[in-house]
Amino acid sequence: MRLSRAFLPTLKETPAEAQIASHRLMLRAGLVRQTAAGIYAWLPAGLRVLRNVEQIVREEQDRAGAQEILMPTIQSAELWRASGRYEDYGKEMLRITDRHEREMLFGPTNEEVVTDIFKTYAKSYRDLPRNLYHIQWKFRDEVRPRFGVMRGREFLMKDAYSFDLDKAGAEHSYRQMFLAYLRTFQRMGLTAVPMRADTGPIGGDLSHEFIILAETGESGVFYDAAYESTDWAKADVSTDDVGGLKAFFERVTTNYAATDEMHDTAAWDQVPAERRREGRGIEVGHIFFFGTKYAAPLGLTLAGPDGTTVTPEMGSYGIGVSRLVGALIEANHDEAGIKWPDSVAPWAAAVLNLRVGDAGTDAMCESLYAALGDQAVYDDRNARAGEKFADADLMGFPWQAIVGPRGAAAGKVELKRRATGERAEVSPEDAIAKIR
Ligand code: ATP
Ligand code: MG
Ligand code: MG
Ligand code: MG
Repeated sequence: MRLSRAFLPTLKETPAEAQIASHRLMLRAGLVRQTAAGIYAWLPAGLRVLRNVEQIVREEQDRAGAQEILMPTIQSAELWRASGRYEDYGKEMLRITDRHEREMLFGPTNEEVVTDIFKTYAKSYRDLPRNLYHIQWKFRDEVRPRFGVMRGREFLMKDAYSFDLDKAGAEHSYRQMFLAYLRTFQRMGLTAVPMRADTGPIGGDLSHEFIILAETGESGVFYDAAYESTDWAKADVSTDDVGGLKAFFERVTTNYAATDEMHDTAAWDQVPAERRREGRGIEVGHIFFFGTKYAAPLGLTLAGPDGTTVTPEMGSYGIGVSRLVGALIEANHDEAGIKWPDSVAPWAAAVLNLRVGDAGTDAMCESLYAALGDQAVYDDRNARAGEKFADADLMGFPWQAIVGPRGAAAGKVELKRRATGERAEVSPEDAIAKIR
């Protein structure tokens, strides 16, 4: 992408409405544009990050054995009446009436729809276990949309739904997702601590929230300092190893960690005082086991192994894909801008041409850009070097390949690592090898 022809707008001024760093930086770096309260358009750089996050989520869901589908955003009120949630969900649900006066809604979550789909096809216990997920826009009419995409009204969520023959099977499915979540966040360079959580309007009796510790988080959290080191999360177990996965789950969840809604002061008192940590965090994922809460009222029953009828035990598993983009910036930024982790960066590198029109500089930049292809943006604009540095720092490309007339004449590129600020003079070949 040549910056001279790209739509990669940046803002010099800090937008007044943004209260936290990630929101400010998302607006300044031209990742998103608010079109109505809590509703955002994703601009080219932001969309590339969103797609990268989505792809990591997808790969880890697939690896854990879940299968991707795509359910619609608009749902019929009927199924929600059957589950009893139509009234319960209250004002967070955006309700719509179609031209035939039929009540519809913009889906805030999909338990009812997926249960109804599964019911059409699953006939016997041989159709279990299954796990279906989709990555789709949700709408929740939040009272106070804020912090940009962190609490939007329209937001992108990955939601998976598991169906099992019995409770033991459902617990295994739950742990498979638990492991997939740890791996997902690790691949993004994030430490997300699983915490005992309240089940809220989804209902059920086993639930964990995955929380990224951050001052600006909206959840109050209590946790053992053991979670500050990353050893606990070493996710080296197979999702198909039932016993091994159970042992892993128990090891990871043995230390105290709970959100304020589930805080248990008696258990907290058992944690040695010097290990008690109280703080704030961002909820990036939430998993639930809720048994037959939806299967029963929606009439999902199957032929059991012994001629009886069974009602599958279910769980649901959400990840805030668009919220993660904000959370990633909260965890990776400085005064100058974003510091994207390699795994989600919109482009791996920016090639900065410090003297457009100088034959040697142009030639070296063109050849770097040709070799890097879609992994790089090429700042070929007729602009001051200072502006190019500032924009590259703001947009947070993991690498900057800086070329000026002196370097070009000597066959050298200055390679800067955005995360650490380290710089080195290297040959173009070495720069390309590092960036790739
Ligand atoms: P919160 O406590 O932040 O309101 P929630 O508990 O209502 O979130 P869930 O129903 O558990 O949300 O949905 C699964 C995931 O979807 C959450 O863990 C979060 O990452 C994401 N999410 C929920 N609401 C929003 C929102 N308004 N904007 C962006 N992401 C959201
Ligand atoms: Mg909520
Ligand atoms: Mg919550
Ligand atoms: Mg939640």
